[in-house]
Amino acid sequence: MENESCAFMPGKLGRFRQLILNFITSIRFRLTLWSLFILSLVLLVFSSVVYTSQSNDLKSNALSELEVKTRQVQVLFRLVDFQVTINGSLAMPDLSQNLSSFIEPNDSMTIMNTNGQVLLNNGNLNTSQINELLANWKTAQVGESPHYYQLAGVSKGNNNRDYLFLLSPLPIQPYGILVLMLGQPIDPVGQLNKLFFTLLLASLATLLVALLGGYWLATRAIRPVQMITRAAREIGETDLRKRLNLKSKDELGELADTFDQMLNRLEAAFDRQRQFTADASHELRTPLTIVGLEANRTLSRRRTPEEYENALQIIKAENEFMARLVNDLLTLARMDAGQTVLKFEVLDLSDLALEAVERLYPLAHNKGIELIAGDLPELKIMGDRQYLTQMLSNLVDNAIKYVNGNDKYVKVETGFRFVGASAQAWVNVEDNGPGIPPEHLPHLFDRFYRVDKARSRQSETIQDSGKDGERPSGSGLGLSIVQWIAQAHGGQVFVRSQVNKGTIFEIVLPLIEVPEPVTQ
Ligand code: ADP
Repeated sequence: MENESCAFMPGKLGRFRQLILNFITSIRFRLTLWSLFILSLVLLVFSSVVYTSQSNDLKSNALSELEVKTRQVQVLFRLVDFQVTINGSLAMPDLSQNLSSFIEPNDSMTIMNTNGQVLLNNGNLNTSQINELLANWKTAQVGESPHYYQLAGVSKGNNNRDYLFLLSPLPIQPYGILVLMLGQPIDPVGQLNKLFFTLLLASLATLLVALLGGYWLATRAIRPVQMITRAAREIGETDLRKRLNLKSKDELGELADTFDQMLNRLEAAFDRQRQFTADASHELRTPLTIVGLEANRTLSRRRTPEEYENALQIIKAENEFMARLVNDLLTLARMDAGQTVLKFEVLDLSDLALEAVERLYPLAHNKGIELIAGDLPELKIMGDRQYLTQMLSNLVDNAIKYVNGNDKYVKVETGFRFVGASAQAWVNVEDNGPGIPPEHLPHLFDRFYRVDKARSRQSETIQDSGKDGERPSGSGLGLSIVQWIAQAHGGQVFVRSQVNKGTIFEIVLPLIEVPEPVTQ
């Protein structure tokens, strides 16, 4: 039991730590944090502006009030008759009655002579504060003009407040000039403090709401991403049918759509791959079975030399078929994998066509088919000699293979035409063979697609196969290869056919040089 709990605790702690780590590194958390940080900055700037402007307002109010009071004091002192004692000092009369009409109890009023001797002090200014003011008066060297000075920590009643002082000359006849220091609290009712706490509380409340709201919003915004992650996790290599189907029009909807489209492509590619592998194995199984059965059948008892020879002919034909099939499969696999490197050079399409005709002539001749080279003008194209030769041979070979009977021909012809501003070279391989029914035409270039399934290998009996030197029918890969080669050269392949009349395969390729017109 103890062991169990020991084993359990670290796991739980680890999971908790992992959860916290996931949370901290999540976009949700970081988004919320960033928005909070930006909002804090905005609130800070806003609060500072409000606070500073309020403080400036209070200061300028205090200033204008101090100016009015100073003028009143100056007027009052002009009206008073001052006595100067024999030793030259000034006898200050009691003016509190007159002053109280405009000097408020919170105000600080100090009068001193320029030597620093205090003649009147109604405020609670201590000596050091008075000296500070006087020093300021002197260093400012403002002489007889008024001068403002801010003093912190002036105690009046129970409060220590910031005071603003207006220092101004007070001319006394016949004594000379005194210094009047009139001060009043900048913020008498503590407005700034209140404003500070209000701003602080409002900012904190805003940040709290922003924190909760931001987190909620971020969670909502990120939900589709979590969905995509979950779906991606559920999609296995063998089951690509799942789709996100997120029907929203925003950026995440676009991402999900792209993801779905990618899955469509992947599924199609996997399906093609599966189909290709299944078809390839199927195609290989038939000749392998034939070879196995033929060998067993022949070895089951003693045979005449002719019978052995016949069996070996069959095995040889199947072997050739398999070799061709494997070759075609390899070619297509390389093409699919993008490993096919085309060596482009300037070629004459008609030359290549003529070569194909010459090479396959004996084959056609053996079958009693007339292989004709039609018009073959010089046509300069860019291409890979080996692949273009394979493409043309496939077409001519097909025509010879599928044409049977008397008075049959296969004709190879080339030419060019203008399509818009560009010129195209074309090569036609035409026959007057059995033709291809229209319903098969759209699938003709699909891999392993064969029109005449009745003549396909599946229905071929072992006895029929390879008899009388008949070649096994094709694998259905030839035209796929033709199409790939044409497209890799920036061209296309077309087919026109009529049953019992014949078939024309046409390849068009970009022409790099328009031939000179032939003058008659
Ligand atoms: P295969 O190896 O079977 O010839 P292809 O891809 O070359 O495979 O051709 C696909 C199918 O198209 C063939 O099985 C055949 O039925 C049909 N076909 C091709 N060329 C001709 C033609 N000239 N005349 C009639 N049918 C043709």
